[in-house]
Amino acid sequence: MSLTNKFFSLLGFPEPISLKRFNSKNSLPENVVLLSISKQINSNIEQALLQLPTNIIKSASDLTEKSIAALIIDATNYIDESSYQQLYLTVKNTLRHLDSNAKILIIAHAQSPNKNVDENTFSQSLIGFSKSLAKEVGRKASTTNIIFIADEAHDSHLALSNPINFFLSSKSSFISGQTLTINAVNNLINPPSKTKKIAVVTGAGQGIGSAIASRLFDEGYFVIGIDIEPMKIQLTNVMKTLQGESVILDVSANDAGSKLVTLAKQHGGFDLIVHNAGITRDKTLAKMPENLWQQTLNINLLSVMRINKALLMEQSINQGGRIICLSSMNGIAGQGGQTNYACSKAAIIGYVKSMNTKLAREKITINAIAPGFIETQMTKKMPFFTREMGRRMNALGQGGLPIDVAEAVTFLGDELSFAISGQTLRVCGLNIIGT
Ligand code: NAD
Repeated sequence: MSLTNKFFSLLGFPEPISLKRFNSKNSLPENVVLLSISKQINSNIEQALLQLPTNIIKSASDLTEKSIAALIIDATNYIDESSYQQLYLTVKNTLRHLDSNAKILIIAHAQSPNKNVDENTFSQSLIGFSKSLAKEVGRKASTTNIIFIADEAHDSHLALSNPINFFLSSKSSFISGQTLTINAVNNLINPPSKTKKIAVVTGAGQGIGSAIASRLFDEGYFVIGIDIEPMKIQLTNVMKTLQGESVILDVSANDAGSKLVTLAKQHGGFDLIVHNAGITRDKTLAKMPENLWQQTLNINLLSVMRINKALLMEQSINQGGRIICLSSMNGIAGQGGQTNYACSKAAIIGYVKSMNTKLAREKITINAIAPGFIETQMTKKMPFFTREMGRRMNALGQGGLPIDVAEAVTFLGDELSFAISGQTLRVCGLNIIGT
C-alpha cells in the first residue's frame, strides 16, 4: 500500500476494491436475477430482458448456492403500504448473495400527475433507498441505479433493453445512485443508410475527450476530433491512431459554428456531437477578473449553444442524431472558487432539459453527462489534499477514469437510447458532493 493510501486509510478511507471495467468478454453477467416486489413481473421488463444475451432467474429460492452479479428489482407494481415492506424483504434477502462488482437495478414508474399520491410517494422513496443502498454496496465496488418509466412510454420494452444492458454491464462501473427516465418511445427511427456514422468530439486531444474519441472509433464511428492550436500534436496523434480527422478550432471563436456547418456538409451531416471541450479558471468571485469569467462561460456553455444553433439551423445534425454535452458535479453542487465553472455547467443541465422538446420533432436526442472526480490533467492540477480527498469521497472510494465517461457517451449516443433525452447522467461513483 502506498504511503498516501496508508494515510487515507487511517482517516477512514480504506483501499477500495478495483472496479471491473468493460472489455468485450465481460459485457453482461451470464445470469440476471429478476425479482418483483409484487406477485407479478412487469411484462415490458421481461420482454426487454429477452432481447439480451443473459439467463433470467426469477426465484429467490434458486439463489441459495449462487452468487448474484446482476439483480433487477421490479418495483413497477405499487400495491399499498405493504409494498415498502416487500421492497425491504426482496432486496435484503438477496444482499448476502451479491458478488463484488455486482449491479443492482431498480425499475419503477416515474412520478406523474396521472398517478395517485401513494404511487408518486413510493416512486420518490426509491431514490432515497437506492442512493443509500448504493453507499452500502459501494464498499464491494457494486452499484445501484434506477430506471423510471414515464407514463407516455407505452411498449417500453423497446426502449428498456439498452439502458438495462448498460446498467447491468461493467460499462457503468463508476455510475451509482443515479436515475434515468424512459420517455415516450416514439423516437425510434431506422438507422441512417450511411455506412459509417460521423461523430464529432470537441477537446479530443487529451483526457476525457480522447477517451471518448477512441471509444467511438471502437464502436465504428468515423471520428472528427477538435482541439485548439497548442494541442495540435497531441490531437493529430490521437486522431491518427483512430484513422479520424483532426480539426484545429477554438470552439469559442465567432466562426466556429459556420466552420462546423461546412465540415458537416462535407461528411453528409453529423450523427453525434460531443461537446466535451471545457476549462476551469478558478478564483473566488470577489477576485475573479472579468476575462476569466467570460472565457469560462464562452467555452463551457455559450459555444455549445452557438454551435448547436448553427448546426441545427442548417440541418447539419442528421435525423436520429445525438447531442451530448459535458456538465459537471460541481455544476450540481457548486464549489467555492468556481462560480464561473459551476454557472456554465449548471446551465448545461438546464439547456439540455429545455432543448429536448424542441429536438424531439427531429428525433434528435440531447443529454448531458456530469462527471465527478475523473483522473485527468484537469484533476491533476488540483491541490494535493483536495485531489486525494476528491477521488475517495464517493460510494466506490476511488476516482473514475476517462473511459467511464466515454462508456456513458457511447450508451447515450446509441440509436437504441432513443427514449432518453433532456437528462443529465452523473458519472461520479455517487460522490458525496451534490447528492
Ligand atoms: P482536460 O483539460 O484534460 O481536456 C480538455 C480539452 O478541451 C483539452 O484538450 C483542451 O485543449 C480542450 N479545449 C479547451 N478549450 C478549448 C477550446 N476553446 N476549443 C477547443 N478545445 C478546447 O479536461 P478533462 O478533464 O478531460 O475534461 C473534459 C470535460 O469534462 C470538460 O468539459 C470538463 O469540464 C468536464 N469534467 C471533467 C471532470 C474531471 O474530473 N476531469 C469533472 C467534471 C467535468
